[in-house]
Amino acid sequence: MELLREENREWDYETDVLVLGYGGAGACAAIAARDGGAEVIILEKAPFGGGNTACSVGNMFLPDNVAEAIAYYRALSFGTVSDQELIRTMAEAMAALPERLKEWGIDLKLRKKNTPTFPTIPGARCIDHWSAGLGESLFKSLSDLVRQRNLGILFETPAKTILKDPKTGLTRGVLAEQAGKSLFLKARRAVVLATGGYENNFERQGYFHFPGLKLYPFGTPYNTGDGLKMASELGADQWHFASTEWLGPALKEPTEKIGVAIAFRRSSGSFLFVNRSGKNFINESMNFTHRKEALAFTRFDHERAEYPNIPFYAVFDDQFRKEGPLYGLQNSKVGYASWQNLDEWSQDNTAEIEKGWISKAESIRALAGKLNLDPDGLQETIDQYNRDSKEGRINAFGRSPNRMAPIEEAPFYGVELCLSIINTQGGPRHNCRAQALDMEGKPIPRLYKAGELGSFFGHLYQGGSNLPEALAFGRLAGEGAAAEIPW
Ligand SMILES: Cc1cc2nc3c(=O)[nH]c(=O)nc-3n(C[C@H](O)[C@H](O)[C@H](O)COP(=O)(O)OP(=O)(O)OC[C@H]3O[C@@H](n4cnc5c(N)ncnc54)[C@H](O)[C@@H]3O)c2cc1C
Repeated sequence: MELLREENREWDYETDVLVLGYGGAGACAAIAARDGGAEVIILEKAPFGGGNTACSVGNMFLPDNVAEAIAYYRALSFGTVSDQELIRTMAEAMAALPERLKEWGIDLKLRKKNTPTFPTIPGARCIDHWSAGLGESLFKSLSDLVRQRNLGILFETPAKTILKDPKTGLTRGVLAEQAGKSLFLKARRAVVLATGGYENNFERQGYFHFPGLKLYPFGTPYNTGDGLKMASELGADQWHFASTEWLGPALKEPTEKIGVAIAFRRSSGSFLFVNRSGKNFINESMNFTHRKEALAFTRFDHERAEYPNIPFYAVFDDQFRKEGPLYGLQNSKVGYASWQNLDEWSQDNTAEIEKGWISKAESIRALAGKLNLDPDGLQETIDQYNRDSKEGRINAFGRSPNRMAPIEEAPFYGVELCLSIINTQGGPRHNCRAQALDMEGKPIPRLYKAGELGSFFGHLYQGGSNLPEALAFGRLAGEGAAAEIPW
């Protein structure tokens, strides 16, 4: 990859296929395009590759049977995918993924048979759990393959606009930005959009999800939905904004200071979530990840025009503090903060109390004062919770007594929480060849897309699917892009 000389100023770089975004989808598109005989340049906004792919758990839930998978994926979509050919391709590509990755020297291991998220849905039993280790090591394998192919990669070079010929409408290249300067890149064959979701774009979140609420992402902060803008400028149809993948509560102040979600993952012991009125409103022990029903966090009070359960707080006692860190995914390499080592947290939470991230008081009422909560409401809530816990009763929100312990050992603590998400699914709609479609369902010439930007998943999400989907459709996108006739 050489910078073109001054006399060719119209294009700074020229190649066959431009891949935008160097996560799992982008890496697979680049590898497949190169193997299809194309020259490739990858543009990546961050100073390094990986995206959400590299900080993922690396779980892949894949079908062992195409016919059942077709029924299962069709049912999961709840009618949001009407293209039957796409459903078939999804089933085939996901089922074939272990073999296809093996061709590249990546060995997926079968962890467990028959592990669907929704066992009652038709076809569910075809889903098995596979993995090649954490996302970090999977991305390392992919980036080794990219390196071996000697492709051009421009880091810290966000793509801004996909350029098209005003007369023919054909995709011609990309306008990107590097060190504050515009860079024009020509794509002789095609452009692959693989810039991930809009997790970090709070304005877009408000358009599609809960106006006025912030959902803090657990993955890379570089996924700001740039692909949505680039796709709309080319007239792409866009789908699946109804779907966002919850993680659950995160610790608000550290999340805002560090810039990505610092997840609160404790789920049993002497703690409770309360709202400003000091009232408990949810079963804290439930698994919030990927839930699709309306959760009490986002309940809206129409008469008062507010979310009564936002802000919300975790309240706990000294026993709970001593039992372990509030932040549950430290040093796991899962989530951006862990992957990038941004998440130091003391084992007994004392450092965070000293930093002022956690409030401390000698009584429940004094704690309510510090957190600005209704003191009577909080005292009543704790008293009721303690009675339920001691008498072994399931509480009003379904929390089971074996997940409770009385909140009674002073001092008491409180910390404001916020909502966090894993990833979004909305973005450009595509066909079975990973081509982005216009509003009439026709492929936009020379524009391919893959990954969580406009994912297949429009409502129910089978856990462990976004990653394999990104790899499978990234490969299809790269193959299709390389097969285009150069202009
Ligand atoms: C913590 C976590 C755990 C997860 N665990 C799992 C799991 O176990 N199994 C599973 O199936 N899924 C999991 N997921 C979801 C899955 O990892 C992602 O949906 C998938 O990896 C997305 O791949 P992608 O290539 O589309 O996006 P990404 O991997 O996020 O890559 C997008 C890339 O595009 C870059 N980019 C953004 N804008 C631009 C621009 N304008 N120009 C150039 N580059 C740009 C970004 O910097 C990023 O590198 C997890 C996600 C997270 C956050």
